[in-house]
Formats: sequence, C-alpha cells, structure tokens
Amino acid sequence: MENLFLVCGLSGKLSILMADVHDKKTRSYNMSKIRGKDTKPEMIVRKFLHAQGFRYRLHDKKLPGKPDIVLPKYKTIIDVRGCFWHCHKDCNKGDKISTTSEIVSGKRISAVKRDKIKSQKWKELGWRVIIIWTDCELEPKRKKSIKREVNLNRLMKILKIKD
Ligand SMILES: [Zn+2]
Repeated sequence: MENLFLVCGLSGKLSILMADVHDKKTRSYNMSKIRGKDTKPEMIVRKFLHAQGFRYRLHDKKLPGKPDIVLPKYKTIIDVRGCFWHCHKDCNKGDKISTTSEIVSGKRISAVKRDKIKSQKWKELGWRVIIIWTDCELEPKRKKSIKREVNLNRLMKILKIKD
C-alpha cells in the first residue's frame, strides 16, 4: 500500500513537474512573441540602420521598458511591435483577428497597456518615438518586399529630420 502511494505520489509529482516545464516553455515563447526581443523583424531594422551608418544601442536598461533600438544621436527610440500581439489598429493582422482564448486576449490587452505607458514615459523624457509595425510594414516572411523597402526608407528620412 505504502509502495503504491509512493509510486502514485512520484508519478503525480512528475506530471506536475512536466506540466510546469511545458508552461514555462509556452510562457517564454509567448513572451518572446510579445516582447519581440532579437526577432527577425527587429534584425531587419537593425541591419538596415547599420548599413545606413546609424549607430544605436539595444534594449537600453537605463531607459524605462528597455526600448528595442535607441539612437542617442537622433534622440530617437524605435519600438518594433508585432501587429497581432500589440493590436495594430486598422491592420488585418492586428485588430481584425479575434481570438477565443482568454489568455491570448489578456496578453494582448496588457501588451497594449504596457506600450502606452512606455511611449508616454519616453516622450516625457524628451525622446522621439518611432513605432514600426512588423507584419504589415516589414513583411518579414517575404524574401523581398517593396513595402519593407518603402517603410525603411521612410524611417531613414524621418530620422534625418531634426525637430
Ligand atoms: Zn500591422
């Protein structure tokens, strides 16, 4: 009887452990999706900026919310946001996709809240904030994208305007 309990206990514990590992994996996957740290779209922007001679800092810990790309010389922060997770308005990848999952909706809502707070803080500190929407502006899944070229060139022009 005691042995049976032991086995049950262990296997029970094991499955709980496994479930937790899975949750952690899912969580970190979701978080990486939301935060978009070092993602392909961010790399596209970084590569472009570097090739154009812009110098930047990444995930600057000195600034609230550790912004993705910071260009001190231009007093500009570039926030690279995924259309789905950050609910891009008037975008078919952002606001037109409905989800039945409460967890997903909850995460999207908190991402939007965080975005608003971060942008406000950056602006209050005197930074210019440029938002790049990854799915519709960069089309990262396409090898070649005219939209991407246009948007990156627009970004370069905006950066060069001193206000
Ligand atoms: Zn979009």
